[in-house]
Amino acid sequence: MKNKFPTLAALGLLASPAFLPAAATVNVINGDAAGVGFNDTTAATPVGGNTGTTVGQQRLIAYQRAAAVWGNTVTSTVPINVYATWEALTCTATTAVLGSAGAAEVFSSFPNAPVAGTWYCAALANKLSGVNNSTATLTPPTTGTPTIYQIRARFNVNLGQTGCLPGGGFYLGLDNNPGAGQTDLLVVLIHEIGHGLGFQTFTNGSTGAYLTGSDGTPRPSIWDTFLTDSPTNTRWTQLTPAQRAASALSDNLVWAGPLVTAAVPNVLQVGVPNVAASSPSLPLQNFNVGTASFGPAITNPGITRQIGQVIDGNVANVGPVGLACNPNDPAAAATLSPANAAAVNGKIALVDRGTCSFVIKVKACQDAGAVGVIVVDNAVGSPPAGLGGADPTITIPAVRVTQSDGATIKAALARRSRGAQANVVATLGLDNSRRAGADSSNRAKMYAPNPFQSGSSVSHYDVSATPNLIMEPAINAGLGQSVVPPADLTFTLFQDIGW
Ligand SMILES: [Zn+2]
Repeated sequence: MKNKFPTLAALGLLASPAFLPAAATVNVINGDAAGVGFNDTTAATPVGGNTGTTVGQQRLIAYQRAAAVWGNTVTSTVPINVYATWEALTCTATTAVLGSAGAAEVFSSFPNAPVAGTWYCAALANKLSGVNNSTATLTPPTTGTPTIYQIRARFNVNLGQTGCLPGGGFYLGLDNNPGAGQTDLLVVLIHEIGHGLGFQTFTNGSTGAYLTGSDGTPRPSIWDTFLTDSPTNTRWTQLTPAQRAASALSDNLVWAGPLVTAAVPNVLQVGVPNVAASSPSLPLQNFNVGTASFGPAITNPGITRQIGQVIDGNVANVGPVGLACNPNDPAAAATLSPANAAAVNGKIALVDRGTCSFVIKVKACQDAGAVGVIVVDNAVGSPPAGLGGADPTITIPAVRVTQSDGATIKAALARRSRGAQANVVATLGLDNSRRAGADSSNRAKMYAPNPFQSGSSVSHYDVSATPNLIMEPAINAGLGQSVVPPADLTFTLFQDIGW
């Protein structure tokens, strides 16, 4: 070993940035059988900078571009092999698993491990130790030669065909310019390889149980040392399994990594759509909201008015509800009763989800003179989902709050004085004390919906991030290829975990 040092030193002296190789070598291993996936010989027209002339060639070229994005970003002396196949993944006419990827193996307490007794994915363990610890092999059918790999990736070979989001399919160009209904393969590849490089926990987020090694010892993932419950400031490694499982459902899960926190102001924009409400019995409180696909956007300074609750029914075990639907035909336009119309006129109306569409409810309130609408969810879950639907005649803003937050607001309203609804004042606007996708301390929110979503919860950034991030659980339109600030926070998180 000793005689190699002069060689390394000489390389260092000679190297200039222009001649440096990629910071890491990321290889794509074609694991498909003849005629399948990468080996599909169906003719294809070059598109968006992808010069391949068969479907298989274009898939491989896009893969190699994604591998290069990461190879030019992370640093490792140990090559990273991505064993990749195209397979039939879960699919229906309206939803599809685009792809999946993860680490082939995990290691703990390897030489130079920054945190002892903690799992690291293979590619990161190899980088940190400077040697190839990997032992996992797979054998590509076309070569018959077992190959060591650090990342396993599968992509949906049927996307765009009958029964699998028909008419869409992957866009194979390299210029982020997919057609309507198409999914940008390159962005999805960057996302999936990101998981394989360590954007994931190996802890069971559903039970909170750590991954148990072959020696029978459960160990946390390096991921868990940064996952933090925001209100209590408690790291996952300080929690019991049951507490971790609860944290994974809390909508309060954040990443307490110093580099991501420092980068959040350069990436995420100020202002989170929000309901701030207060009353004599309710100290000022912020409620997370889901925004509507119809009506005006939530802006600042927003609308500050008294809340007026619609009450037009009674549900067993729930109590009074305000559906604001047409009782004769849930699909038809609705009109509020005179009493309800008076209750919401000039106010922010509070209604309940259920029976009829969101646009029918909101339009009925608007027709009665409401200046905004808060829809209370009728099912347990968080964070509050958006409000779907379309009606160009709606001109007032509308949001959804969770069932439990709605119950808090209703309880304040129910503290009546002289038979009238209590005076609960709400502002429907942007909370400018936070950035979209972070807590008030600039710690990035992690995806923690209730109910738990296997494969998505905990191992992604939250969907509230604005602008959108590559490592959100769903691929949004308009994402580019950069994984660093100011566009994105993926590599910054990698730096927190040791890359
Ligand atoms: Zn993902």
